[in-house]
Order: sequence, then structure tokens, then C-alpha cells
Amino acid sequence: MANPENTPKEHDLLIIGGGPAGLAAATYGASERLKTGVTDQDPAKFGGQAGTSTLIENYPGFDQGVTGPELMQRMAKQANRLGATAYHGTVIDSIERTDRGLEVSATNTEDGKTLYIAKNVLLANGVQYNRHPAANLDRFLGRGVAYGSPDVASKYKDEELFVVGGANSAGQAAYALSDCEGCTVHMLVRGKSLEDKMSGYLIDKIKAKNNIIVHLETDLTSVDGGRELDEVVVTDRRTGQEKTMPANHLFVMIGAHPRTMWLPEDVQRDKHNYVVTGNDLDRETRGEFEDQYERPPLARETSMEGLFAAGDVVSGSQKRVASAVGAGADSVGDIHKRNAHIEQHGAKNPQ
Ligand SMILES: Cc1cc2nc3c(=O)[nH]c(=O)nc-3n(C[C@H](O)[C@H](O)[C@H](O)COP(=O)(O)OP(=O)(O)OC[C@H]3O[C@@H](n4cnc5c(N)ncnc54)[C@H](O)[C@@H]3O)c2cc1C
Repeated sequence: MANPENTPKEHDLLIIGGGPAGLAAATYGASERLKTGVTDQDPAKFGGQAGTSTLIENYPGFDQGVTGPELMQRMAKQANRLGATAYHGTVIDSIERTDRGLEVSATNTEDGKTLYIAKNVLLANGVQYNRHPAANLDRFLGRGVAYGSPDVASKYKDEELFVVGGANSAGQAAYALSDCEGCTVHMLVRGKSLEDKMSGYLIDKIKAKNNIIVHLETDLTSVDGGRELDEVVVTDRRTGQEKTMPANHLFVMIGAHPRTMWLPEDVQRDKHNYVVTGNDLDRETRGEFEDQYERPPLARETSMEGLFAAGDVVSGSQKRVASAVGAGADSVGDIHKRNAHIEQHGAKNPQ
């Protein structure tokens, strides 16, 4: 989606985050006559985490799997075709209710500060990668070390490749990398077995590859090299013994956390800072909400009336593309319900 020259800043639905949840909501919102805008901090593209996946094998409708970038590009094109407006390079950093509606402000790479006014806002801003404490790691970022999954395996040849992590995303990355000609792929896994965190189908595929070596109960201790990464030091958690191995590229994939620190305090979060919605809000908050707005919070609604949340940022959500898509689409249904309630009973908040 291209950035319009003079961006209209008023929306029926403003979406924060252009990953699967945000783009699904944009598609349904725009196709159901809501004036919809989607913002993303990425300066050039939408896609979120899914857009970095080398191969998504479990998204319904793609029987042979689909690459993350292709799936997400198609979603973005579809939302655009149906009328959603794109705002790239836009980092949302505050939201408050004023007498004009929900005011959302952003730092924009093109025009500095931007203000959006929306009747409804959907928080679909996912999660970000956890940092790894290994010594020297930051020094080699972009010079052999990266957070997140690798791009195409054909980029590498006859190299020692490392993936740190033992969950599905790390497994997918290792599997994709194993197609690299002449490469050995090392998985550094803290747990006692892959079964702890990885889906069975993926474990089978990894076991069938003879150029993937899984190092269980192993910590990455430090990395080193000249200008580029040359070696990694790992520690066997059972014996405490250290080992140095030659390394060309290392991908850190050890989980993620939600980006919710900028939200106002009254947007309820769980102890890990994931946003709480609907029935999962605590009883007192639900009671206060109902007293004030004469209806319970909707399933995808947060404790801030008119602010909805979907996808990975939500407490207890399944961290899956299809789940994020479903939740994003659902939230549009909730927005229609809220709009109908306001039409029938009047706004308890200024609109
Ligand atoms: C490498 C990898 C492989 C995966 N493979 C699979 C798979 O095969 N199958 C599967 O089902 N799931 C897979 N997943 C999980 C899946 O990608 C996520 O569950 C899904 O992307 C979550 O979607 P989301 O829309 O909630 O958030 P995200 O995809 O995280 O998107 C959030 C978006 O919000 C933007 N954003 C964040 N903060 C702000 C802000 N303040 N202002 C503006 N924009 C902001 C981000 O730039 C991002 O584009 C994979 C994940 C990874 C990392």
C-alpha cells in the first residue's frame, strides 16, 4: 500500500500494526464500509513476524505452504484494494480519549509527529524478539549475528550456521537453512528435548536432515571474530564444559515479548505485559466498565472502551498466523456491535 500524500487522519477504525491480525482487520473493516487506516513502524512494508517466516506450512488454503513475505504481501494488497489506507514508518507512542474521540499519536519517519483521531482503535502490534545475554553478541549484530529468522538458504554455501532456540520458529529456521549447499546447521537448545517446545511434525523433519546437529542442554556463552563472526563458545549445561566452534552466521530466536509499555496504565495487562481483553478482564474492571458504558466489554475489547486488541499482543492468545487473522477479523465484528450500541443508546464517551 502506498502512502497517500495528504494522509486523512480521521478514521472509523485505526489499526496499530500491519501483521496478520492488523491486515485481516483492515480487510474486513475496509470491506464493511469502515474508514480504515493501518499503521506500521516498518518504513516500507507490512507483514510483522509472519512476513519474516521462510515457509508457513500450516496456514489453511496453501496446501504446499507459502512463504511469509508472499502471504503478507497478498494480505496487504487485498486490504489496499478494498480501501484501507496505509501509514508506513509510523511508530505509535500514545493513545488517549479526548472530546474528539480516541487520539493516537505517532512518530513518523517522514513528517515527524502525526496525530490520528479514530472512533475505534485496534491494537495489533504483536511482539518483539527477546535479547540474548551472550557476551559480545551486540558487537556482531549485522556482521554474522541476527535476531529473527534467516532469509533464503541459497544465500549461504559451505558455512557453519547456528540457530539459538528450541521452539517452532527456531526449528523452521534451522530446517530452511539446511537446504544450504555444503552447510552444517547447529541448533543450540537449552531444554532437555525438542519435544518441550516444538511441534511433532517439525521435529520429524529436523531429525530426517543429516546436516542439522541439535545440541541439547546447551547455552550460547559468547561469540567472537574479527570484523565478521568467526566463532561461538557454547557451554554444556550438564557438565559446565565450554566448547569453541567455528561459526559464520548465528540467528537468535528465543521468544518475544509484547510492546505495550507506552499504553496508558488503565489498559489492563497481565504479569508479562500482554493486553487483557473481554472475559479475561478482572471482575472489578468488568464491573466498572459495565456501570459506565451500560454494556459488558466485548470479546476483543480492552479495559479502555473503544480500544480493541488482537493477535500476539493479547494475553493467552495462540501465537499463530491463522489465530491472529481470526482475531483481527473478529474485532471488526465487535466494532460493529459497539457502533450499534452507541447508535441505539448514545455515546457515553465523546465520538
Ligand atoms: C520466524 C517466525 C516464523 C513463524 N512461523 C509461523 C508459522 O509457520 N505458522 C504460524 O501459524 N505462525 C508462525 N509464526 C507466528 C506468527 O508469525 C505470529 O503469531 C503472527 O505474526 C502474529 O501476528 P500479529 O499480527 O499479532 O503480530 P506481528 O506479526 O508481530 O505484527 C505486529 C506488527 O506491529 C508493528 N508494530 C509494533 N509496534 C508498533 C507501534 N508502536 N506502532 C506501529 N506499528 C507497530 C510491527 O512492526 C509488526 O509489523 C512465526 C513467527 C516467526 C517469528
